[in-house]
Amino acid sequence: PELAAVVAGASIDVPDFPKPGVVFKDLMPLFADGAVFRQVIDAIVTHHGAGSFDVVAGVEARGFVVAAAIAYATGTGVVPIRKAGKLPRKALSASYALEYGEATLEVHADAFVAGQRVLVVDDVLATGGTAAAAIDLVERAGGTVVGFSVLMELSFLDGRERLAPRPVHTLLTV
Ligand code: 5GP
Repeated sequence: PELAAVVAGASIDVPDFPKPGVVFKDLMPLFADGAVFRQVIDAIVTHHGAGSFDVVAGVEARGFVVAAAIAYATGTGVVPIRKAGKLPRKALSASYALEYGEATLEVHADAFVAGQRVLVVDDVLATGGTAAAAIDLVERAGGTVVGFSVLMELSFLDGRERLAPRPVHTLLTV
């Protein structure tokens, strides 16, 4: 609960971004605050346990910030899950529906050693489409997803139900 208040206090609600009617949760102030950022990263590591994962997969772009810090703190590596067309070598793709149109994420086909234990992270869980695609990609690339964490979950968008029965770890639920 205390950490949830810290996350809430370090984020800013931005009305009508990226479009009218949407309240965007801006976590940039949280990343910019050294003490809060460390607290948040340490809490995720403690939840899963250092040693329980071999590599951290982060979703472009804010997930990269979270993934890199967790990886550095635990002596593990980072695998970026990127938007379509950014990866230079053979990649696997996963597409998912957005309200208008669709989005595609990609990961290098050889990103994981078979059975490698992967912690998947992002900044915010909304509808869960992004997380579902990221998890699918990791598994298709041979990784074993051992955990999924976000800093903030927007529970009214039912992302957790979409990912069930896979557990979702979040520091703040709104
Ligand atoms: P979903 O696919 O779950 O609907 O959306 C989650 C993805 O969109 C995440 O990659 C997340 O970074 C981004 N996202 C959606 N809504 C928000 C928001 O309010 N704030 C932030 N920071 N990211 C969001």
